[in-house]
Amino acid sequence: MKFSEMTYTRPDIEAVGREIRILTERVKNACSADEQFKAYNDFTGICKKVETMRTIAHIRHTVNTEDEFYDKEKDYFDENTPVMENLVTDFYRAFVSSRFRKELEERLGALLFINAELDLKAFDPAIIPDLQEENRLTSEYVKLMASAQLDFDGKKLNLSQLRPYMESPDRNIRKEAFRKRTEFFAENGDKLDEIFDKLVRVRTAMAKKLGFENYVELGYIRMRRNCYGPVEVKAFKEEVKKHMVPLSLRIEKTRRKMLGLKKATFIDAPLYFRDGNPKPHGTPEEIFEAGEKMYDELSKETSEFFRFMLENELLDCLSRKGKAPGGYMTYIPDHESPFIFANFNGTSGDIDVLTHEAGHALNGYLAKDIEIYEYKQPTLEACEVHSMSMEFFTLPWMKLFFGDETEKYKYMHLASALVFIPYGCAVDEFQHVIYSNPDMRPSERKDAWKRIENEFQPYLDYEDDEFFGKGGRWQAQTHIYSVPFYYIDYCLAQTIALQFRNLMAEDYKAAWEKYLDFSKKAGTMTFIDLLNSSGLRSPFEEGCVKEICEGAEKALKKLNIC
Ligand code: ZN
Repeated sequence: MKFSEMTYTRPDIEAVGREIRILTERVKNACSADEQFKAYNDFTGICKKVETMRTIAHIRHTVNTEDEFYDKEKDYFDENTPVMENLVTDFYRAFVSSRFRKELEERLGALLFINAELDLKAFDPAIIPDLQEENRLTSEYVKLMASAQLDFDGKKLNLSQLRPYMESPDRNIRKEAFRKRTEFFAENGDKLDEIFDKLVRVRTAMAKKLGFENYVELGYIRMRRNCYGPVEVKAFKEEVKKHMVPLSLRIEKTRRKMLGLKKATFIDAPLYFRDGNPKPHGTPEEIFEAGEKMYDELSKETSEFFRFMLENELLDCLSRKGKAPGGYMTYIPDHESPFIFANFNGTSGDIDVLTHEAGHALNGYLAKDIEIYEYKQPTLEACEVHSMSMEFFTLPWMKLFFGDETEKYKYMHLASALVFIPYGCAVDEFQHVIYSNPDMRPSERKDAWKRIENEFQPYLDYEDDEFFGKGGRWQAQTHIYSVPFYYIDYCLAQTIALQFRNLMAEDYKAAWEKYLDFSKKAGTMTFIDLLNSSGLRSPFEEGCVKEICEGAEKALKKLNIC
């Protein structure tokens, strides 16, 4: 069904609440697994219906924020989602404590119960005020970041509009753009410290109320980490330090040479080539046509998928007045339709929409064959495997977008994928330190970041920058404020994507089949089980990071850019 034809009606949350309460009672009083199974089916049916309406309202609001009708609908969901969550939790609590659990696990799989139990551990009505406070604080951070109105190039720019200037081939323009950014952060430094301090406090308070020693454990549970913990993550970070950090030093050295600089500093970090980073050619229409050709040629599945997206108006990528900023991919359950939202701006980021976001969306499309609602989506590191690997699988078609700059694009893409991992590990390490020591003062937090940054990104030189040079870099990383412990996911996923890249170099077709197999299984298994069953190495395994580095470095050399 075309997106414009999907009907929207506001779900009556009170009526929904009554129905869920009745179903919860049915589970509690059931005399057989069969009765409970039926109640469960009715329950997911209701959840899907509400989620379908919420998603349609959300999309229609973001594609036109000036539409008053959907603006009100968005408010309605903002207000009622916590109410709904509470009811859903009650249902699952009854469901996992069923005396017929063994029979239910046989029908539904054990993972559903493991995940539901994790969610239950992370929730108690006593923390509702804390959750509300946490939401308020993260919104305050997002608003503060969005409030930037920087005078630059005769215009008023927000932080993302400043980005192209920070990538300018003219070093003086870069320098000025970075200085503007520093000014904004320095002016708001106290506010940023204050918001974060309150967040650490409220998260620690929640953890204590739920019976945990500190927020680290709760943070892992809230990320639904069901197959690894801090010990495994620490081992992974050690491997990164041993193999990936030295590789990133070599990459940085080459980049400095390519830029013709004696000394490269943080203002040179976004730039790879003296005459500027490669940009896609063509109008948005031409880019979409090229995207269609690319997915037609890649495989039968991608061809069907991309045509389905285009035919059903499930891509909204052009910027226009009233459209919300940013980009996302979402899924409309009852219509089994993924949806991609983006704002094309003429940078290589536009192509990421067609590769990265499409990797997420393809997974949504393939998951239509999975019947159990909870298994349609895996944990987030596995989701990022779908998207980050697709960036590599589509590389053979980049000529359609980058023309004679294709080799440069491939180099930049691979090099930045590699240097990203140590940065992501620093973000994770920092959060471990912060939440294990919740009483640190803001200045101590900055010292901690400086120390960690130096371990993972020893090449960084901040000149005499008064904010970023003093341990403030993490305050520009949204995830640290909004979703703690969600960042290592990107690093773990990137190692799998790079693993696919190595496999591709040997046998593209076989690597693609492996990828399809991984994506088709969606959330039916834990991350580690997904890897094992698809014949992929776990990033926690010793030697895995080393192997990836060796393959990738060979590929960089082969591109022969410098
Ligand atoms: Zn993603």
